[in-house]
Amino acid sequence: MLGTRRFRQIQRWCRRNTLTFLCLFPTVLVLRGTIGTPEQDLNEFRNHLSAARTRRVLEEKTQPDGGDNNNHHATFDLSKILVDEDSGDDEKRDTNAAYTLGPKISNWDEQRREWLRNNPGHRSFTGPNKPRVLLVTGSSPKPCENPVGDHYLVKSIKNKIDYCRVHGIEIFYNMALLDAEMAGFWAKLPLIRKLLLSHPDVEFLWWMDSDAMFTDMAFEVPWERYRNHNFVMHGWNEMVYDEKNWIGLNTGSFLLRNCQWSLDILDAWAPMGPKGKIRDEGGKLLTRELKNRPVFEADDQSAMVYLLATERGKWGDKVYLENGYYLHGYWGILVDRYEEMIENFHPGFGDHRWPLVTHFVGCKPCGKFGDYPVERCLKQMDRAYNFGDNQILQMYGFTHKSLASRRVKRVRNDTSNPTDVTDEFGLLHPAFKAIKLPPSSS
Ligand code: UDP
Ligand code: MN
Repeated sequence: MLGTRRFRQIQRWCRRNTLTFLCLFPTVLVLRGTIGTPEQDLNEFRNHLSAARTRRVLEEKTQPDGGDNNNHHATFDLSKILVDEDSGDDEKRDTNAAYTLGPKISNWDEQRREWLRNNPGHRSFTGPNKPRVLLVTGSSPKPCENPVGDHYLVKSIKNKIDYCRVHGIEIFYNMALLDAEMAGFWAKLPLIRKLLLSHPDVEFLWWMDSDAMFTDMAFEVPWERYRNHNFVMHGWNEMVYDEKNWIGLNTGSFLLRNCQWSLDILDAWAPMGPKGKIRDEGGKLLTRELKNRPVFEADDQSAMVYLLATERGKWGDKVYLENGYYLHGYWGILVDRYEEMIENFHPGFGDHRWPLVTHFVGCKPCGKFGDYPVERCLKQMDRAYNFGDNQILQMYGFTHKSLASRRVKRVRNDTSNPTDVTDEFGLLHPAFKAIKLPPSSS
């Protein structure tokens, strides 16, 4: 097998080099015949280069600020254009009044049903068990606080675009702070409410943190399982309802149905969000009431655990705490096992064999300080990205050279019948095969 491949490589090399030689030969003849000897050409080229260089040096010398400075990113002070504007004429909320996400709506189910009836071109389900889904993610309006953070945000959104394209999911990326009081991890609440109300045709909204990546591109969410539920998070009933453990569920990747119940739970979730005194006091309450919670301001995840644990009767029956697959997967227990997964399994399981999502909780890739060493976080984020990206590249016949490598290699040669490509590596899932053949060809 190897021998044949080697022979083919040699054959290809010979063919390529013979061609190059045959092509170069007349070129050299033409050059010699029309322009001059190769030495003359080379000298002319050298003279041209040195003239250009001299011109540049002169230009730099005659410019007052040393020349190349204003063309050079390293010497430009970004704060010149990214000015921190003051809040100016923003209307101030009466902080004595309770915080609300917006005007009370109590008939959303009827309003939405009516809208769908009047807009028959828009359907909330595209198939019997295929709800219309909008994946929502986002990051701060400002550049990251460290020089590589934005690079990881690009990788993260590219990863989500890939998953969503394969699964027919739409994406919304938010960089606007819709409500100044709800900065940071609370920013998703006003955003989610606004999007549910603005997209009545969306059945499920999927929130995903910017530090979470899809690592199983083939896994399809078991939508049918949630037909009687409105809110799906990764978590465990006992840890939330019995232990009140602050990590009993995770709010970095969740599914929320577009309905009145969801608007209500958003309202019940929001009160500890406003930054300042309210958020600080909320943090004290949550640390006191929840198991193992460190001392810090109120966060959306702890607030959700607290809400469910204290009002189980009100919300519990519509909340599905999923642990049959990794709707969210804590990176610490997954990233060192990727090679083992590749060795033993294939995409499509979504669970410990091939996790749907790897979430870099606490890494703060866009911030200045995280809870873990930066080197481990960034190295493992690259591995997670490449692990997921391999499943995309393999559809096109490529793969990363290793999970640590940006570079790719070919795993399949192009053929003149691209639609006949077989799954020779056993890595492609039916979901991937489906996109290779356009529907019209069957
Ligand atoms: N986020 C946002 N706007 C902001 C700050 C954060 O949309 O101004 C989002 C971002 O997607 C981020 C998420 O909020 O991933 C939650 O924060 P983070 O992931 O840092 O929290 P952790 O998962 O580490 O608890
Ligand atoms: Mn996160």
